[in-house]
Amino acid sequence: MRLRKLQLLFYLFFILTVSFIKAQDPNWETYYEKSGFLETPRYEQTVEFCQRLADHSPVVHYTNFGVSPQGRLLPLLIVDKDGHFTPEKSSKTVLLIESGIHPGEPDGKDAVLMLIRDIVVHKKYNDLLENITILFIPIFNVDGHERFGPYNRINQNGPKEMGWRTTAQNLNLNRDFVKADAPEMQVWLKLFNEWKPHFFIDCHSTDGADYQYTITYMIETLGNMDNNLTHWLSDVYEPSVSKKMVESGFPTFPYVTFRQWHDIRSGLRTGAAPGMLSQGYCALLNRPGLLIESHMLKDYKTRVEGTYNMILYTMNILSKEGDKLKDLIDKADNYCASAELRKEPFPLGFRISNTDSIMVDFKGVEYDISTSDLTGGPWFHYYPERPITYSLPLFNKNIPSATTMLPEAYIIPAEWTEIIGRIKCHGIAMYPVREKINIEIETYVFENPVWSIMPNEGHHNVNAEAIPVIMKREFAAGSVIIPMDQPSARLIARMLEPKSNDSFLYWGFFNAIFEQKEYAETYVMEPLARKMLNNDETLRQEFEEAKQKNPDFFKQQWNILNWFYQRSDYRDHNKNVYPVGRIKDLSTIVY
Ligand SMILES: [Zn+2]
Repeated sequence: MRLRKLQLLFYLFFILTVSFIKAQDPNWETYYEKSGFLETPRYEQTVEFCQRLADHSPVVHYTNFGVSPQGRLLPLLIVDKDGHFTPEKSSKTVLLIESGIHPGEPDGKDAVLMLIRDIVVHKKYNDLLENITILFIPIFNVDGHERFGPYNRINQNGPKEMGWRTTAQNLNLNRDFVKADAPEMQVWLKLFNEWKPHFFIDCHSTDGADYQYTITYMIETLGNMDNNLTHWLSDVYEPSVSKKMVESGFPTFPYVTFRQWHDIRSGLRTGAAPGMLSQGYCALLNRPGLLIESHMLKDYKTRVEGTYNMILYTMNILSKEGDKLKDLIDKADNYCASAELRKEPFPLGFRISNTDSIMVDFKGVEYDISTSDLTGGPWFHYYPERPITYSLPLFNKNIPSATTMLPEAYIIPAEWTEIIGRIKCHGIAMYPVREKINIEIETYVFENPVWSIMPNEGHHNVNAEAIPVIMKREFAAGSVIIPMDQPSARLIARMLEPKSNDSFLYWGFFNAIFEQKEYAETYVMEPLARKMLNNDETLRQEFEEAKQKNPDFFKQQWNILNWFYQRSDYRDHNKNVYPVGRIKDLSTIVY
């Protein structure tokens, strides 16, 4: 009897052990785990694992959302417990996670491949799928990812080899969310705007100074996001995720820079993200976007674990709070589509106040600074074995850098096809006019344009004074009217208001309007300039004042005569005039 009991116990132990081994099936180890947490898989191996997950589980669908310029498919995993793999069918809280926008920072790829495996194969955290649909892009910048090697991230502690920061066209995708130059970004925007995910996570590894935190993060709570969503993020999301991270041994801090680069004691700064960055883009569309930055000096295993935890705890919150979040997003969308948005000055960007700060505790490390005998510059020596908590000022108050009252609609001339195409990528509603129209619009005349000398993402940025004007203009058939009564209104304004650093004008898409294309011969202009001076006393005064203000410029015959040409009836009336029109009252326009 006793023996039988022992046999039974042994049998039970055997069954449990076998099922445990099955649950932790080594065949399901990821490439990263098999490498002893030191290596990250290439594109082919990543795709293979995604495909395996989909073959294994009916709740996983493997697909792609486009093709890269070098011909690679852009991989996408969709996890939904009811097999609802299209935006129309999904009714849950949609979470989009992305890794490899900077392929040198592959932490998110290795963390989320394990996490999805743990959910769908090992049946851990199974309840998460009750309320969430997960979309996962393991590698966004696939071409950059395959520029693989050990020397791609000089400041970073592993993995052994990794991809390269930019695309094959040398574009940084995390500057491209609004202007959408990269073919990869254009298809990403299509995916995003079809699914309209309720929460977005973008995984990175940082650069910068040494400190204790493995994970810092950025989420828009500094004025760039709808008010109610900001409160939800500050009052519900952040405290909850921070608490769980502390409990798991990964205290976090918002992503900051230091007032003086590398010098923690100089104080901390954090700013509202512009739309060109992933979290800033999402905020403009009323979706929380979480930027995870693992700390590059921590070893790869620690970073991947921190990233895994941050994403898991975010999923936990979304699983409980998803309905509340969806409701807040709906309200924010409705607010943006209503006339309410147009009643207040709209911020076109933000800058960090240099005077307002709060004191915070920051888990840094001791460091000293010596003067380099090689360069004469400061040489920072950090001592991670000597952690220290600093009490520091955090400059986190963000002030609008420029504002404008928004119109009821914009109109873009048919001939600016590139601009119309880029805006279409964002899923924005627009209506072509069937016949040419001649209407009164508000727009801007630019003065003193200045271009950046060095290219920035292949563009030369333009800063110019924008003088508001009202004028009548003719728009050809096919010109498009973009009404502002749509949820993307804030994004539209950022793209089309020239004083915004997200605008197409700032990024140089309208550079041709600043060029003079007709010129007067000097012998034609000499008599005409005299005639103009004799006939117009105001012009004569203006001329004298201009000469006094800028004597060097007026030493050149050509400059003087062109000054008169620009004030004659022969001048180009479209030069320096913004082609996009603001329509104050859309009801007056028939289209
Ligand atoms: Zn990055």
